[in-house]
Amino acid sequence: MAIVITVPQDAACVLFAGVPEKRDYFSTVKNSAPIAPTEVGENGTVYCFEGLAEGLYHCCVSKEGYNSLCQVINHTGSTRLTLTLDKLAGGGFEAGYVMRYTPEFMENQLLSHKDAWGEEYAKLFCTPQFLPGRPGRHQQTTNEEMVNFIEKLAAGNPHMHIFSLGSSPKYGYDMPLVLFTRESVAGLTLAQAAEVLRRNGKPTVQYNAQCHSSEPASTEGALAMMVSLCGEFSRVLEQVDVYIIPRINLDGAVEAIRKSPTTGDDMNRDYLYMHNAEVRMVVSAYNLFRPEVCIDGHEKFHRFNATGEDICTDMEVQTGAGALNHPAEMTEMVMQMALEAMQKARTLGLRSHFYGKLASAAGGAAGSSYFGTRNSLSFLVETPGQVNMGMLCMERRVLAHYVLASSVIRYTAEHSAQLMATVHASRNFMQKSNQIYDEKKLFVLEHERTVTGSLVNPLIHVPTGRVVEETMPSTTPSRPRPFSPAPVPPPTCSLPAWRRRMKFSVWRPAMPSTITAWAQVPWHW
Ligand SMILES: [Zn+2]
Repeated sequence: MAIVITVPQDAACVLFAGVPEKRDYFSTVKNSAPIAPTEVGENGTVYCFEGLAEGLYHCCVSKEGYNSLCQVINHTGSTRLTLTLDKLAGGGFEAGYVMRYTPEFMENQLLSHKDAWGEEYAKLFCTPQFLPGRPGRHQQTTNEEMVNFIEKLAAGNPHMHIFSLGSSPKYGYDMPLVLFTRESVAGLTLAQAAEVLRRNGKPTVQYNAQCHSSEPASTEGALAMMVSLCGEFSRVLEQVDVYIIPRINLDGAVEAIRKSPTTGDDMNRDYLYMHNAEVRMVVSAYNLFRPEVCIDGHEKFHRFNATGEDICTDMEVQTGAGALNHPAEMTEMVMQMALEAMQKARTLGLRSHFYGKLASAAGGAAGSSYFGTRNSLSFLVETPGQVNMGMLCMERRVLAHYVLASSVIRYTAEHSAQLMATVHASRNFMQKSNQIYDEKKLFVLEHERTVTGSLVNPLIHVPTGRVVEETMPSTTPSRPRPFSPAPVPPPTCSLPAWRRRMKFSVWRPAMPSTITAWAQVPWHW
């Protein structure tokens, strides 16, 4: 009952029982005590661990100048593994270690290669991270590569316009906003271009990515959408305008971390408070364009429980549906759009599910909820990956982002008149009648997990790739809802002035502090 692991010369190999359940995402994998090898081969290339019971293990292999590797092992008797390492690029934009799963999990759950979905999609995988010959195989697209890629695309396209939202606070990277429109906006400022679009009678889609900069496939998906909007898909621009902010957390991307390296904040919990310059830039663009539709790209890390099970799905969709001020028509439309995208994903063999929204979740402070609260048809999409998945299944992850965004944009184009009417009726409704407290209007304060038809999240046993259980959170409406929580600031009103007018106060409590807080989620879906 031995595990024998062959590693590159001079690499260290450390074995642990169980799956890496308590891990630090971005530096080292934290574990219980390591299992001592019974024998180590010459130059440390073969590690032999004897007398091990069947079950789950994982090993960490490391060598100076290379991505460390965390490999999950399903030990069912005699296990022999040969592991290779990839070189670090240096210069940032990459995690210290990458994950690898069992072959069974890869085969059953994560099939991914360029040609798996046909030519229509294969041509999308040309964004910087896919390019051969980059110095580090697992380095995410750098900010320079992203800008060069966008500029090259725009050079040949009269309908693609690059604007700047400002500079990132720590490293001073420019935050690009890329506008696709048939209107002539060349030479206009962003505010002038936005005004043209607000008056042209077409719906506008805002598509932003990588608020969490450890989630690289979301940016690659946004860049793939730019490629598509320069090709055949540009026909949607007859009915819709699209602007893309491909990377919000430019500074965090350098350090391959989730949060802002300037404030330490999770910026996707900052939309109501706007402490962070990057969030203010995105909201300022939103205030100019007032887009009818918003898409926010994210990725999730695999979170194993102790027996190696994990919610595993290729596309999880959360909507801003049912924000407190949404009329039912808005909720119906946003749900229809989400369902169409999820069905499209399933035709490509991608498992798509609703991303359950819990009463304990961030509520209106997260981007998709915030834009939902401001009566946009709003979507958040998650794919299974993080910067320390490296290039693992990258095509599959990017495809899921692209399918969600292209499906939502296509729906917006095909139903543009109805969609405009629904969103604008909702905004009027919000301003006129929905700010009245009503005991009968309930919102959710409690939730539990349950099985409900097709709206499920599958729990997968990672070593075997087997589906264990399918669940999703269910909610119980339990409290009258308060007034509309996010009044719309007019574009002419500065943020401090708006806060004063709405009697909002913003402060940072001393840490640690105990405060009473509440969150709210819709019950009608
Ligand atoms: Zn995220």
